[in-house]
Amino acid sequence: MKSPYFQEEHHLFRQSVREFFQKELSPHFNEWEEARQIPRWVWKKMGEMGYLGLCHEESYGGTDADFWYSAAFLEELGRAGNGGFACAISVHEYMALNHISRAGTPVQKEQFLRSGIAGDTISALAISEPDVGSNVQGIRTSATLDGDHYVVNGSKTFISNGYYADYITTLVKTGDSLSLLVIPGKTEGVNRTKLRKMGWHSSDTAEIHFDGARVPKENLIGQEGMGFYYIMDSFQIERLSAGLLSIGAMDGMLEMTLRYMQEREAFGRSIRKFQALRHRMADLVTEVEACRQLTHHATWLFTQGEFAVKEASMVKLHAAELQKKVADECLQFFGGYGYMEEYPICQAYRDTRVGTIAGGTSEIMREIIAKMTMDDVSYAKVY
Ligand SMILES: Cc1cc2nc3c(=O)[nH]c(=O)nc-3n(C[C@H](O)[C@H](O)[C@H](O)COP(=O)(O)OP(=O)(O)OC[C@H]3O[C@@H](n4cnc5c(N)ncnc54)[C@H](O)[C@@H]3O)c2cc1C
Repeated sequence: MKSPYFQEEHHLFRQSVREFFQKELSPHFNEWEEARQIPRWVWKKMGEMGYLGLCHEESYGGTDADFWYSAAFLEELGRAGNGGFACAISVHEYMALNHISRAGTPVQKEQFLRSGIAGDTISALAISEPDVGSNVQGIRTSATLDGDHYVVNGSKTFISNGYYADYITTLVKTGDSLSLLVIPGKTEGVNRTKLRKMGWHSSDTAEIHFDGARVPKENLIGQEGMGFYYIMDSFQIERLSAGLLSIGAMDGMLEMTLRYMQEREAFGRSIRKFQALRHRMADLVTEVEACRQLTHHATWLFTQGEFAVKEASMVKLHAAELQKKVADECLQFFGGYGYMEEYPICQAYRDTRVGTIAGGTSEIMREIIAKMTMDDVSYAKVY
């Protein structure tokens, strides 16, 4: 489809990403799902392809490409059909490394960003805690300065990449305010447990306990006390990324469903001839198209330097909710085969469910949109 946003070079890039995923990675997806882990060679290969530094500075190995390259990349990542892999890569590049890229010192960038872009190290972003998820300001994990180290105590949970991460960008309480600290995964006093979950099996999700973990004070990102604002600021890129991944995932599900409808017969006819299914498919492609336009518009606002919190929240809300509907309806078109593990729509359905929870729930998105629409609340950029 023609687009005012994606130019010829973005289309070519998209095509090359799609071919790379199809040829080099998707044959291994089932192994990763079984192993509940993405092997290190994949991270390295993604780094060599330049895919982990699309939005990061050239001086640290990134490409610093315009954001439409990232948009095409994220859509293809979603379309590839492994939600866990998509989660792992997007958390690493657009969430954890994003903070170092934006507020890190040159020394931090040399240490954490360069290796992350190269795929030599894996990064996680740890905000949620066992007792606190949506209410970010209520986190309790503390970091107390002791000489030239912070001593960290507390727990984080549901942390994507958290089990294997070399570096964990962590939101901590420093006195009465919040700060961001990069905690190396191998630090003494950092204990990690892998969590079992419904979907996203390729991605590791961890509960992390900090028991007097000593972290050099040089690992503080930006200014002490600014952590909450850095996190809030980054929600915009996180929500857009989630929306772009969803658009790709929905395209992938619709494509596999249309292929199946071509092949499957019932009552002596191809099931694609049944009007009941045709109309539902027509509704789905229409809704996905409307969602795509909203997502691309919000992405365009972002590329123009706008702090489009309302639009980005609408994208996260609408895309995640619609993806749930698309997964459910597409699975129905497959009949009993849709419920069988060897059919990719089955994994797509499981992987989809978390979309309205992770990265901010649908209820929280509605709260933000309602406040901005009805109470004249507005948010200012920090970075
Ligand atoms: C697979 C997975 C991966 C994740 N990855 C990460 C990660 O990498 N890093 C990280 O920090 N976190 C991660 N999370 C955590 C995720 O961001 C939280 O689960 C989410 O923010 C919700 O927090 P909670 O689970 O504590 O739910 P709660 O905050 O306890 O909410 C429970 C319910 O109450 C609703 N609710 C809460 N407050 C309100 C309100 N004000 N108005 C209306 N309804 C409300 C919620 O919408 C929800 O339905 C991940 C979660 C999952 C499942």
